[in-house]
Amino acid sequence: MMVIGDAAGLVDPLWGGGIGYAIRSGRTAGRTAVKAFDQQDFSKGFLKGYEVGWGNSQDGRSLQRSRILSRMLLGLSTVDRDVYIRFQGSVMRFGSSRVLSAIRKIMDAISARPPATTQ
Ligand SMILES: Cc1cc2nc3c(=O)[nH]c(=O)nc-3n(C[C@H](O)[C@H](O)[C@H](O)COP(=O)(O)OP(=O)(O)OC[C@H]3O[C@@H](n4cnc5c(N)ncnc54)[C@H](O)[C@@H]3O)c2cc1C
Repeated sequence: MMVIGDAAGLVDPLWGGGIGYAIRSGRTAGRTAVKAFDQQDFSKGFLKGYEVGWGNSQDGRSLQRSRILSRMLLGLSTVDRDVYIRFQGSVMRFGSSRVLSAIRKIMDAISARPPATTQ
């Protein structure tokens, strides 16, 4: 079985967006289903290709970053969370591309680490 969209938990925990993830995970699952049909292999191992492919995709990595960030934000005090969000907002408005690129690199490094616990 392949699960997509909201049913698979593919919703950004920070902003609540899930329409794009639902569409693109459905497309990825559909492609995997076509391959499974071509090869007449509907085993769990074959269908797992969808999950692995999704996890490695830009969407999968972006969602992983949001999950990590939301866990970090939940661990902060209300004051620190407010400071972070204001900082992030300022960077978005006035920040140089170098600052944004550094933040992106940090987030990429964080999301490249294996998760401490699986969900
Ligand atoms: C108030 C609100 C605002 C949102 N705003 C945004 C936004 O601005 N941008 C964004 O990207 N995302 C937004 N989202 C999230 C987005 O709506 C979902 O992530 C997205 O619709 C998920 O698509 P889906 O196909 O996985 O599930 P759904 O859109 O929920 O589709 C599932 C469908 O399956 C049907 N169904 C359920 N059970 C059965 C059954 N047993 N048999 C047959 N059919 C069944 C349901 O009726 C439904 O039509 C919002 C969500 C909410 C609640």
